[in-house]
Amino acid sequence: MSTTKKIVVTSGDGIGPDVSEQAVQVMQAVALRFDLQLELSEHPVGGIAYDLTGTPLPDETLDACKAADAILLGAVGGPKWEPLDFSVRPERGLLKLRSELQLYANLRPAVIYGDLVDASTLKREVVEGTNIMVIRELTGGIYFGQPRGVTTENGERTGRNTLVYSESEIQRIAKVGFETAQKRSNRLTSVDKANVLETTELWRNVVVELSRDYPDVELNHMYVDNAAMQLIRDPKQFDTVVTTNLFGDILSDAAAMLTGSIGMLPSASVGGDIGLYEPVHGSAPDIAGQDKANPLATILSVGMMFRYSFDLTEADELIQKAVVQTIETHRTGDIMSEGKTLVGCQQMGDLVLKALESL
Ligand code: NAD
Repeated sequence: MSTTKKIVVTSGDGIGPDVSEQAVQVMQAVALRFDLQLELSEHPVGGIAYDLTGTPLPDETLDACKAADAILLGAVGGPKWEPLDFSVRPERGLLKLRSELQLYANLRPAVIYGDLVDASTLKREVVEGTNIMVIRELTGGIYFGQPRGVTTENGERTGRNTLVYSESEIQRIAKVGFETAQKRSNRLTSVDKANVLETTELWRNVVVELSRDYPDVELNHMYVDNAAMQLIRDPKQFDTVVTTNLFGDILSDAAAMLTGSIGMLPSASVGGDIGLYEPVHGSAPDIAGQDKANPLATILSVGMMFRYSFDLTEADELIQKAVVQTIETHRTGDIMSEGKTLVGCQQMGDLVLKALESL
């Protein structure tokens, strides 16, 4: 008997609808292959939602997301909505969705697919074979800590943000780190600044305590400044990395760039009962509506959905294989190189479908 999964698609703004359309096609083809019934529904989020309802995350969208098994998000934002008040900006919709769904763990793989090694700005011998999973804490830390804000003190403006983590917040993200490492090559690096920040000294202590439950995982610790250097110097030393919200924000972008193109980077936000899957890139207003966007990041995000929400590792592997096979011959503009055929967003999606059929 086949299982039914409810998927909410929130395509969003800019290139969001273009890349989501291609990813949904792939999702449907792969679901069929694995005997999974999909119940798909589309709901507005971001700028388009603001235009329709006056809010970037309408209640109707949030309710649908809460009732879903998984969510696929395109991207939100664009210059049209930049003059809006901070509280109704498209990005607020996404932040609210993440926090309402308790998505405290952001998983970002940095993998070099096929011969895309030449798209990296680093030397081939440094990056070839890189395969890192950065796990960033997503709902706590300095981005959310109180007190915060700018006040006037002693006659001058003073800005303040607060780095706070409770023991349970650290435990639950570290657990994701250990369990992810177990599914990869049993190596975990915890990144902190324990020599200077007490909160991250607590982070390190809690991670060490938890490590006793995972004797098979080899744990090491790195200060964030060193981690930034090591990522560029010798990225292959890393397998799974777990870190705070702020450090993860920066390090995951740096790790991602080792691979060369933002159009290839998927992500998963998990923690609660429902996973949210989205490309790392934004709404790319400069190429929106021109059939130029690379849909592969969103297609690979669908692979992560199969792996992490539906426990179908093979489906993810199949999608990755289809992507690698496709880019051997065809490329969108962002990853174009000599000898390959240039294609648009739609054609790239169709080619991945064709590759899937052949596998
Ligand atoms: P961006 O990721 O949208 O674009 C950066 C550059 O990369 C642009 O030149 C763009 O054309 C290119 N690019 C991005 N995705 C691509 C793809 N799939 N294929 C080919 N090229 C691609 O970042 P930005 O320009 O800083 O932001 C644009 C808007 O997106 C802003 O409103 C920002 O707030 C928003 N944003 C949203 C998210 C999200 O929804 N998660 C993330 C980042 C930025």
